[in-house]
Amino acid sequence: MAVECRFSANPFKRFRHCVPLPPPLEEAGWTAAMPLFTTFASLLLLLPLTSAAGLRLGDAMNLLVLGNTAAFTAALLAHAAGLLDAGFSPSFLSGGFCVANKATPWLQSHALCFYVDTAGALALALLCWRRPLPKGLALLERSARGVFAHGAAHLGLWYFSPAEPPSPAQLASPAQLASHGWLKLALASAGLGLFFFLLLRTAPTIPRSHAALHAAFHGVAVACVVPTAFGFSYVNTVLMTLVVLYEMLTAQQKDEAYDLAAVIVHFPVTQLAWAEGFSCDRYMKHIGGHVWYDAVIPASLCVYAAVVLSRQPRSGKLA
Ligand SMILES: [Zn+2]
Repeated sequence: MAVECRFSANPFKRFRHCVPLPPPLEEAGWTAAMPLFTTFASLLLLLPLTSAAGLRLGDAMNLLVLGNTAAFTAALLAHAAGLLDAGFSPSFLSGGFCVANKATPWLQSHALCFYVDTAGALALALLCWRRPLPKGLALLERSARGVFAHGAAHLGLWYFSPAEPPSPAQLASPAQLASHGWLKLALASAGLGLFFFLLLRTAPTIPRSHAALHAAFHGVAVACVVPTAFGFSYVNTVLMTLVVLYEMLTAQQKDEAYDLAAVIVHFPVTQLAWAEGFSCDRYMKHIGGHVWYDAVIPASLCVYAAVVLSRQPRSGKLA
């Protein structure tokens, strides 16, 4: 074991005091820690700069979310292309998700996601029961449908998940597409398109027609072109980028609710993507895997609702 020795006045120990060095972090561990460290360092730097640069806290945070999402996608693509060893967990790379409890179907991660998302959607719907809907809670009403659609998509993945996960480098070729059967691909495209549509419609700033166009394109892309191993990352990147960009560029009123949504709802989920990708084999696979990514979405929305409601006890207006 490596030790570190310093001078000591103790002659019985030959004037040396030695302590064992802690074991070094594996290279992958350091790599995994870097994005999290960089993100929080950026956050600390951004906060004082927001007022100096005339940038809203919500805009600064949304920029951070966009950068974080782009960095995650770039790291994954570079890793898959063999350009760098970013330290992604092999299990995450092989299936595209961190899937736990594969031997117990009812406790497998995709099944757990369906349970958690359904419960989360119900909780969000109950929070929106009150009429008139308190200011700032329209996000929750839309999100309840999106969270349920997310869970339903996982139920589909659970039901249709292949026994052998595809290779991360495996790309869909025309021959492979034809072997799937065009009817099956059309149905998958339609289902995924509906999934994208419902999730994009959770953002109040995305018009219905825009959501439909984006959903049609990405539904076909995920069903026919995107390798299964990149499915989660593709969906995560598309949804976070579109939702955040529309909110930043087209929000008619950027108020405290806008800032709170960026900090409490958008930011945590991007961190979970890193955690899932890097710590799947070491930690997340042993505690449910991808279900934590799903759980943090309704949980952060509930926290957002609690903060919004606590800020408008009487007047019904946010500062
Ligand atoms: Zn999910």
